[in-house]
Amino acid sequence: MKTKVLLALLAAVLLTSCGESSSSDSKNDNSSVQTTASAAESDNTATAAAGSDPEPEPEPAADTQADRETIYQVSLLQGLTLGDYNGSVSVADLKANGDTGIGTFDGLNGELIMSDGVVYRGLSDGSVEVVADDETIPFANVTFFDADEQEDVSGIATIADIKALLDERVEKLGKNSFYMVKIEGTFNKVHARSELKQEKPYKPLAEVLETDQREFEWENIEGTVVALYCPEYMKDLNAAGWHLHFISSDKTKGGHVLDVDINSAKLSIDPTQGYNMQLPETEMFPTLDLTKDQSEDIKKVETKD
Ligand SMILES: [Zn+2]
Repeated sequence: MKTKVLLALLAAVLLTSCGESSSSDSKNDNSSVQTTASAAESDNTATAAAGSDPEPEPEPAADTQADRETIYQVSLLQGLTLGDYNGSVSVADLKANGDTGIGTFDGLNGELIMSDGVVYRGLSDGSVEVVADDETIPFANVTFFDADEQEDVSGIATIADIKALLDERVEKLGKNSFYMVKIEGTFNKVHARSELKQEKPYKPLAEVLETDQREFEWENIEGTVVALYCPEYMKDLNAAGWHLHFISSDKTKGGHVLDVDINSAKLSIDPTQGYNMQLPETEMFPTLDLTKDQSEDIKKVETKD
């Protein structure tokens, strides 16, 4: 953190010395940085200032690492369930904030699965397509994925069983952090869903799913489950607990997972301490009543009993 602040101040100082020699109006409240500033002024050029810096160059990885450990969220799931399917963030912007995650598209046009930096759409017929950078997203969670914990798993026959296993891992690693998980392997069965693209005026999600949800079952399929865990205290901003999406290895099938039977797979867990939420600038968003506890409704639309 200290390194980050110093880096930012140093950058500001260097920028100032590059341009016209302006008065020190920046926030130079750190004495060591002020020393650097006077050195830069007397040296007169930015390159000389950088060369005269007695401190070793800080690792540039520090910043990158901090960004990697952040879950980036577009809007609230509670806004989506109320029917705000208006895209507010582009696929390109999403890619700037992660390489792995889940979500949906403008107009609720399919299930979003991001894996290895590519954004895929699980369409209402269960097929998959790569999504262009200029499409927009009303709701998503992504992060830069690091497989910090890995293990082999096999013979996990239901979504309840895999959630229970994942809960055990989270209990051990810390239930108040965020987790992105990848489960890559062979599946005896995947039961998934997607939905038809909606037209305005948008109806609430529960109503849409009653008529426009489409379900699929694939057997003996190779692929990846991307799963997000949100801590319990997130229940007003997202779904607390687990939310799973699937994409096949050949990138032809995918969707929101309702049930899963894992034959054998590699489980990779990425614990994440940072959380960054982007509120949408849609016309509908300011009009939504987000005061109501929607936990029960969300459980209904996210799972299948
Ligand atoms: Zn989903």
